[in-house]
Amino acid sequence: MQVKFWGTRGSLPTALTSEVVKQKIRHALEGAAGLDLTNESVLNRYLERLPFTARGTAGGNTPCIEIRSGDQLLIIDAGSGLRDLGDDLLLNRGFVKGYHQANFLTTHTHWDHIQGFPFFRPAFIPNNQFIFHSPFEDLAARFAQQQNSLFFPVSMSYMSANFEFRYIPANEWSQIGNFRVYPMRLSHPGVAYGYRVDDGHASVVCATDSEYKRVDPTSTERFVEFFRESDLLIFDAQYSLSEALDKPDWGHSTALMGAEFARRARVKGLVLSHHDPSSSDEKIWEAREQAENYLIHHPDHYTCEVIVAYDGLEITL
Ligand SMILES: [Zn+2]
Ligand SMILES: [Zn+2]
Repeated sequence: MQVKFWGTRGSLPTALTSEVVKQKIRHALEGAAGLDLTNESVLNRYLERLPFTARGTAGGNTPCIEIRSGDQLLIIDAGSGLRDLGDDLLLNRGFVKGYHQANFLTTHTHWDHIQGFPFFRPAFIPNNQFIFHSPFEDLAARFAQQQNSLFFPVSMSYMSANFEFRYIPANEWSQIGNFRVYPMRLSHPGVAYGYRVDDGHASVVCATDSEYKRVDPTSTERFVEFFRESDLLIFDAQYSLSEALDKPDWGHSTALMGAEFARRARVKGLVLSHHDPSSSDEKIWEAREQAENYLIHHPDHYTCEVIVAYDGLEITL
């Protein structure tokens, strides 16, 4: 199974400012003093050794995750990252010719999870087919409403691919091509679902947009079971601990909470995602360090890989 992150920012697409780019360049130049950067291999080695916060960024697009198994493609959420995925499907994977298919899972329809869809170019190619699976019975109407002429110039009826909206029940496994998919309701304003996806070789849980106000074993047990021994848990790490306390009922969580669930559920890899638009790269990577330290210092001594999701991150399971 291949998992690729096309959008990892929560709430709102977030671009780096010129000032932040300048700081990153300054950081890189400072560390390069004395190196012969005219030598290409020295330069490449130096770039690879730079901390990710200096040579990269956590990402600016809102949520979109691609999961591939064999020739099957499953897309979780249609945030602004979907535009880049769509362009890749057109340029490199034949969707430009039509007669290609992908399945979508929708966690919920807050803007950050659907706003990329009107810019998904494969949906304008006749004979491509996109099937949306979710426990929302009115999902077709919600997508159409986003492209109401008051809000967007191009209506969904102008998109000439074939669309199908299929209901799948929560708290049950459904078969979608090679994938088994289990939706579970999360704690988020409105209604939002997490998905556990299994292709017979690996399992991934996507549980962004969720808050855990009560942390006692009884209140959290159903989540622990949902995450249990997954190869990858994609977790809502939008806030620091103090932000989470300041924003009850906003529907988001922390990297530390992710670490606690990873420990209890024995997940193999914890991916921190849905970064807050106001979080700098430094703050996001510090949260990762805190999560790792929490696991290391817990008497349980359970460790797993803690990964910061960024646009373009690809993981093979
Ligand atoms: Zn969101
Ligand atoms: Zn939301």
